[in-house]
Amino acid sequence: MRPIQMVDTKNQYLKIKEEVDTAIHEVLDSAAYINGKAVQDFTVALNNYQGSKHTICCANGTDALQIAMMALDLQPGDEVITPSFTYIATTEVVALLKLKPVFVEVDARTFCIDVESIKKAITPKTKAIVPVHLYGHAANMEAIMQIAEEHHLYVIEDNAQAIGCDYTFSNGRKKKTGSIGHIGCTSFYPSKNLGAYGDGGAIFTNDDALADKMKMIANHGQSKRYYHDVVGCNSRLDSIQAAILNIKIKELDHYIIARQKAATFYNNAFKNHPKIITPFVADYSSHVYHQYTLVLNDVNRDELNVYLAEKKIPSMIYYPVPGHKQKMFASFGLDHYELKTTDWLTERVISLPMHTELDEEQLNYITTEVLNFINK
Ligand SMILES: *Cc1c(COP(=O)(O)O)cnc(C)c1O
Repeated sequence: MRPIQMVDTKNQYLKIKEEVDTAIHEVLDSAAYINGKAVQDFTVALNNYQGSKHTICCANGTDALQIAMMALDLQPGDEVITPSFTYIATTEVVALLKLKPVFVEVDARTFCIDVESIKKAITPKTKAIVPVHLYGHAANMEAIMQIAEEHHLYVIEDNAQAIGCDYTFSNGRKKKTGSIGHIGCTSFYPSKNLGAYGDGGAIFTNDDALADKMKMIANHGQSKRYYHDVVGCNSRLDSIQAAILNIKIKELDHYIIARQKAATFYNNAFKNHPKIITPFVADYSSHVYHQYTLVLNDVNRDELNVYLAEKKIPSMIYYPVPGHKQKMFASFGLDHYELKTTDWLTERVISLPMHTELDEEQLNYITTEVLNFINK
């Protein structure tokens, strides 16, 4: 059996090696390392894939979130509602911009921001909601957009884990996650579903004015060369990464199918087990399985993790500490938070290897060993 990895970027690369290596060398030969043709081509391909009006590539997913929030003209102390159960980048940029992160619950089944909790957290200072499509499943965007409209709030989707996910509205219309809110953000970190071989990110919007502003912010607030209208930053996708992504975006739907196949294998193996809750898929969302995450009931998770490691099966806890318990946010006063679902999930989730290169032999071995431990 081939060694099992949490994410197998190497074997995925080997399947497209020739094409990728050629594309990298074309960039090297062109010497257009920054903003070359590859960046322009990839921006168009990504924009078409997303079905967005505007796509702006940038240096990473964290920058994408930061640039999005900088474009909204928020004032220090303005409140941004986000789930506590997410990767730190989502909430860190809020604090970095001197805004106040307001942590709310997630839905225990989808792991995504809970709609009722958003409603309860809205105050006169609330300016934006940042739903995260965690693990590759969409947040309930239709309900979130409705709340946002009623309260005049911006919605920034953190789509770093869900590129390719389809959201279905109640009228049957479908949209890609990341193209529903006022702004969508994504990441091309190597382990993401559309991963570069380095850092990268992108921002999506259907709003012309926001698009112009975000383009400017990502480029030192520059309106024309050496004329800087607003304080911005420097955030670019480099041409080599764009050339790689241009090849990989053509494979993205195949990659998603490979992930879904692995998830189906896992789901069948763990079906109806009293101690294992397999990932839920809501009517309104597809699942692109950035992670395959179980919720364990009455299982010693640490011992399972050690047992699997002894069997050379990696497993991970995403994420061991939720936002409302992170020291970096202490100055916002965290003691009042009571996020029972978030705490409950934090203690019970475990993610198994999930990538495009898993074969049946590996999946069979992983599921057998997980069940051996849990049933012993
Ligand atoms: C990866 C990730 C980010 C940040 O992306 P980077 O490219 O690593 O900066 C933001 N939010 C979520 C949910 C992520 O998973």
